[in-house]
Amino acid sequence: MAVIEFRAALEAALPNARMARLRQVQQKAADLDMPTYLVGGVARDLLLGRQPGDLDLVVQAGDETDDIAGPRLARAVAERHGGDVTVHPAFGTATWLTPGGEPIDFATARTETYAHPAALPTVTPATSILADLSRRDFTFNAMAIRVDGDLFGEVLDPYQGQDDLFARQVRVLHAQSLQDDPTRLFRAVRYEQRFGFHLSSETQAQVPAGLATIPALSGERVRHELELIFGESVAPAMLARLDGLGALAATHPALSWGEAQTRRAEAMASLPVDDWRLAGSIGQVTTLLTLLLVRATPAEARAALQRLDVSRHVAEAASAALELRLVSAVPSDVVAQLDPLSTDAVVGAYVLRPEFRELLDKYLSRWRFVRAETTGDDLIALGLRPGPDFGRWLWGLRAARLNGSVSDRDGELTLIREWTQTE
Ligand code: ATP
Repeated sequence: MAVIEFRAALEAALPNARMARLRQVQQKAADLDMPTYLVGGVARDLLLGRQPGDLDLVVQAGDETDDIAGPRLARAVAERHGGDVTVHPAFGTATWLTPGGEPIDFATARTETYAHPAALPTVTPATSILADLSRRDFTFNAMAIRVDGDLFGEVLDPYQGQDDLFARQVRVLHAQSLQDDPTRLFRAVRYEQRFGFHLSSETQAQVPAGLATIPALSGERVRHELELIFGESVAPAMLARLDGLGALAATHPALSWGEAQTRRAEAMASLPVDDWRLAGSIGQVTTLLTLLLVRATPAEARAALQRLDVSRHVAEAASAALELRLVSAVPSDVVAQLDPLSTDAVVGAYVLRPEFRELLDKYLSRWRFVRAETTGDDLIALGLRPGPDFGRWLWGLRAARLNGSVSDRDGELTLIREWTQTE
């Protein structure tokens, strides 16, 4: 593909402010004579006519010991144009937070070797961008666009990623790919479903080898890939496909996904979050994890959550949602049962348990906000002495409000008088 096409595609796709930043990198990298490339999904997204996501740059190392080429360029650009640079020394990477607030990542080119399947790779700086591209997951993610100096816009596509995009397929770079790193099986499904592609025959043939090494993957790494999936609009289709391939069961036998889960997950798009005053803060991770575990026993679910090494908050919320049984429909009983749980747990239960939806909706939209007007200070003003009874009385007032037996402050005070006189 000619040089000019990617240059023009970048100019057309990127808003002016993003393009201006890239021009600043182009200039500085040329001044310092540092070959620099846009990598990751940028070339892929341009070819698919999608807005590129994060701008990820790779800077070629000066020699095999130069593990700070990326941070060096990031610092030089920020010195000239402002913004902040955070360096991650262990990875030879840096993030430039531009004055406009956009993070742009600068990595040093590197090669990888695997001590054993599913291990984290050993990395060394690479003096060739091709070495860096050869460690990537799929052909369409192994394209790079040069951005320094006059070569701006030149594309490198050593694995014919463009052909695979046109053939609408996800293709690994070599025969050991999924075995080396079975997180790629999760990634393959993510791209396949996001773009409506299929797995190439080579990729398909490696699925059994990938499945065999999934048990050796750390919980954190599988969870990270699942979380990337949870963030996608077609997450249910991805999870169903992973289930079909056996990847969920290989991760932990308690994880599964079927049509019933898809239906419940789809209901998540229309949760009345405004009524619940939870706009923008729905526990998507907890809810989808909970759905993955809906067929498991509580003990199996806990074991699976441990396998995925989830945070304590998520583990507790997911278990609470899975194990919830509402035994009474009396508002104060519902509130007493749900108040100790996190909102993620209650929302998870709402998605998971249609039989409790009505009560959970009332709790989320109204009951959890109901309070007595009387406070501890009011009780003191009534001449009562602070002590363990205070909490009981205040809860009693809140319960009375919830259950409709009082509706104003006078009613509350009457109740307090009754209780204190008879006690
Ligand atoms: P998108 O999902 O749109 O590709 P992203 O930023 O979510 O974007 P990341 O998961 O951050 O994608 O990965 C960025 C790039 O890193 C990928 O394009 C790929 O080249 C490479 N990469 C990530 N994970 C792996 C892996 N397990 N094996 C090889 N390469 C990987």
